[in-house]
Amino acid sequence: MSEQLNIFAQTAADAAPAASQPEEPPAAAASDPAAQMAQMERAAADCTKCGLARTRTQVVWGTGPVPARVVFIGEAPGRREDAGGEPFIGAAGKILDELLERAHIRRADIYITNIVKCRPPENRDPADSEIVACRDYLNAQLRLLRPRVIVTLGAFATRLILQTGAGISGLQGRVFETHGLQVLPLYHPAATIYDSNKRDPLFAAAPLLDRLANGDGAPCTTPTAGVAPAAPTAAATQPAPVGQEDS
Ligand code: SF4
Repeated sequence: MSEQLNIFAQTAADAAPAASQPEEPPAAAASDPAAQMAQMERAAADCTKCGLARTRTQVVWGTGPVPARVVFIGEAPGRREDAGGEPFIGAAGKILDELLERAHIRRADIYITNIVKCRPPENRDPADSEIVACRDYLNAQLRLLRPRVIVTLGAFATRLILQTGAGISGLQGRVFETHGLQVLPLYHPAATIYDSNKRDPLFAAAPLLDRLANGDGAPCTTPTAGVAPAAPTAAATQPAPVGQEDS
């Protein structure tokens, strides 16, 4: 992994866009985040920045309100999502729906997307080069969404958002703070299909998720070694080394 994977490097809403950022929306839409999001989605529909463009059915951009207080970020579209054009509409989506129900969250109230917008063949892990190629889209989405809470689903989204090399098992179900955001890493719902031992810990986080999404503040912030510090300091823009993954 490289510094390029620091999703917060240009997250500040007023930061000037980098050359690799998606094009700025027309002035008429500049004050309407939803219109800007729709503009970016249309522009990304023909994206060929990485090799996944050759095998995808369509770009799966994301769904939900803009802006959104709570944003869920997964890994990449699967077969059902690639066909349907929406994130988390397959088997993993059903598990996510159950988690949301337990946390008293309506899908319509959250924004859901992935770190990689196109399906990797055979649902393989996304390559670093693909994550880097797609990073600007997520970065731009977050600038418009202005979330207060990010829920990362799985190891790939967690390590991108928290810039950590720590394994997901040690982070899942704990709240971290970075760049003024509260971040809750959870197991990817799909992982619980293949490893039933992850199902109980995922659902055990529902009350915490409820408090984060519907409550009035941080229940418990848990900065740890290997996780980006809370403040957007210069050090925070330097990613921690990436280590082993366990999901
Ligand atoms: S995964 Fe992202 S960068 Fe790659 S082709 Fe799809 S939209 Fe473009």
